[in-house]
Amino acid sequence: QPITTDMATLTEEIDKYAKNKKLEIETLKVREEYRKEFLGNVSHELKTPLFTVQGYLLTLIDGAIDDKKVSEKYLHRANKGLERLIYIVKDLDMITKLEVGDLRLNIEKFDIIELVESVFDLLEMKASKKKISLMFDMDYNEPIMVMADKERIQQVLTNLIVNSIKYGEEKGTTEISIENLIKNKVIVRVTDNGEGISEVNIPRLFERFFRVDKSGSRKEGGSGLGLAIVKHIIEAHDEKIYIESELNVGSEFSFTLEKAE
Ligand code: ADP
Repeated sequence: QPITTDMATLTEEIDKYAKNKKLEIETLKVREEYRKEFLGNVSHELKTPLFTVQGYLLTLIDGAIDDKKVSEKYLHRANKGLERLIYIVKDLDMITKLEVGDLRLNIEKFDIIELVESVFDLLEMKASKKKISLMFDMDYNEPIMVMADKERIQQVLTNLIVNSIKYGEEKGTTEISIENLIKNKVIVRVTDNGEGISEVNIPRLFERFFRVDKSGSRKEGGSGLGLAIVKHIIEAHDEKIYIESELNVGSEFSFTLEKAE
């Protein structure tokens, strides 16, 4: 650092330093608020499944264990509660990594149609429980090669399709379409004819822990982080995500990807 002899310059330097410090403190305060809110949300999310599991275990300890049928049922339910906890913790881990920018993308060339098909296979059972059909909107005879992190895009597709099933109507349809866009891009759309989202709620959808119907969607078993994760992953790819939705009509979530040469 050069020694400042001039008094005016010195005052200026001190001013600048003070301003920077103030800004730093403001930033820290905002971060602290954010951290507190996040922790509050996390403990809230974890409480319900934890108490559920504890409830079943206590009932077993209190004597239900002597009845083989009842104890089997309660152990299964306790296990379901634990599965839910694991699911939430995994999502928390993912969102934390994404938010601190700690997630390295592993970009590779792959066929997006094949990936959608494999996600369909994994979710077939879940969809059939609500008699929802998972389908492409047209025949795709040729592969569509894209450049992206395959594992992360699989997660994006999974989260969007799971939502379309959770918030879709019985005997409804989830449709995927993939179209060429200008400039080496494709757009992937996930459309459902489910409950839809009202206009006032659309801007908040990608917020962590935001849910339109607090009790309803928790019953459906999500973490409230699915769409926040989707948005982060797409933005980490420098791509765009869009949503169009109408209450009682349905929703369409779409995102862009880079086409491979
Ligand atoms: P959750 O775990 O609650 O599903 P998400 O982040 O995946 O969390 O979604 C946030 C909220 O957005 C949901 O609780 C639901 O209210 C709404 N939502 C998401 N996808 C759809 C959809 N396809 N149709 C209607 N509502 C949806």
